[in-house]
Amino acid sequence: MERDLFTEEQNMFREAYRKFLIKEVEPHREGWRKAGIVPREMFKKMGEQGYLLTWVDEQHGGLGIEDFRYQQIMMEEDATYGEAGFFHTLHSRLVGPYLKRSEDQEQQARFIPGAVSGECILAVAMTEPDAGSDLAGMKTSAKNQGDHWLLNGSKIYISNGINADLVVVAAKTNPEKPREIGLFLIERGMEGFERGRNLPKMGLKAQDTAELFFNDVKVPKSNVLGDPSKGFHYLMHGLAEERLIGAVGYLACAQRAFDLTKEFVSERKAFGQRIADFQNTRFKLADLRTELDICQVFIDKCVEMHNKGQLSTDMAAKAKLYASELEGRMTDEGVQLHGGAGYMEEYEICRLYTNARISRIYAGSSEIMREIIARSVLD
Ligand SMILES: Cc1cc2nc3c(=O)[nH]c(=O)nc-3n(C[C@H](O)[C@H](O)[C@H](O)COP(=O)(O)OP(=O)(O)OC[C@H]3O[C@@H](n4cnc5c(N)ncnc54)[C@H](O)[C@@H]3O)c2cc1C
Repeated sequence: MERDLFTEEQNMFREAYRKFLIKEVEPHREGWRKAGIVPREMFKKMGEQGYLLTWVDEQHGGLGIEDFRYQQIMMEEDATYGEAGFFHTLHSRLVGPYLKRSEDQEQQARFIPGAVSGECILAVAMTEPDAGSDLAGMKTSAKNQGDHWLLNGSKIYISNGINADLVVVAAKTNPEKPREIGLFLIERGMEGFERGRNLPKMGLKAQDTAELFFNDVKVPKSNVLGDPSKGFHYLMHGLAEERLIGAVGYLACAQRAFDLTKEFVSERKAFGQRIADFQNTRFKLADLRTELDICQVFIDKCVEMHNKGQLSTDMAAKAKLYASELEGRMTDEGVQLHGGAGYMEEYEICRLYTNARISRIYAGSSEIMREIIARSVLD
């Protein structure tokens, strides 16, 4: 489907980014998957080219690009030439913006230049063994000790958890009020901050998803992000963009799965004809092509609205819900149409399938997205 939303300059940016991925990422992805982690140097290489936190102003070393289409282009290229477990988008667009939102110039001067250059890798830690979708159940707490806060608790499933130099950690700050949480900037090397296992996963094999532990970590007041009672407010603020980011990435991976499947069924033969010639294959791919195109139009519209500051919570939830469910259907059909080959790790469709399984769970599960959409329709 022809898309006319990108400018000439953006098309050139796409070309340059693709070349970068082909040179710096593609040849190494298998090694990273085996290692279960992307080397820290990769963040620096991205930073050197200006690909991290592109929205940061020039004063702090960034490119000052507010237009979300640049991020969209990067995620679309990542789906084919990048490595799904390399979570630079989490670093740049999900965690970095917390530093912007805090409006604390001293914190920004301290952390943003390193995040832009890739020397300071970012993570965000909300989830706990007993608190995921329902963050109000979190047990990690921070006590005000006058000149500092004392942080205790643990987090689980934290992306970039091993590599991270700076982790935005959510903790309860008022034992009487369970919805009052604060966000704390925990730095590599702080006493009492320990990392647990790099957790083995079904997919996203190159992603270092880890457990984190905090035992009496003394957090200076200068490392509190904004108001320590308004953590939920800061979390909510970025949710529409976070869901849009998810949706763009999931759709790009579904598109990649379609292309690979189309290629495979066009070549493979059974019963004297191409798999592509069976009516079952033709109808399946016709349905999926239709869904992919419709989803693309919707997501491009969401990007346009986001650029105008008009993307609503329920629109973003619809985009995240639909794109992640479609990615699930597309990769599942892709494996089916590949036959046994689709179950083999050496075929890319196999990885797309296992990677896709988390899209319906994290960044707000499909059930939570449905709740948000239902609220906008019914309440
Ligand atoms: C690879 C990976 C990376 C991650 N990265 C991070 C990270 O960087 N930082 C971080 O903080 N967390 C991260 N997470 C955690 C992720 O955000 C949570 O797993 C997710 O929010 C779901 O929470 P949970 O696992 O506790 O499941 P639960 O919340 O216990 O959900 C279990 C099931 O119940 C359903 N459910 C829950 N509430 C409702 C409801 N109200 N109505 C209907 N159904 C409901 C859910 O949809 C789900 O199907 C990551 C997880 C994974 C697997």
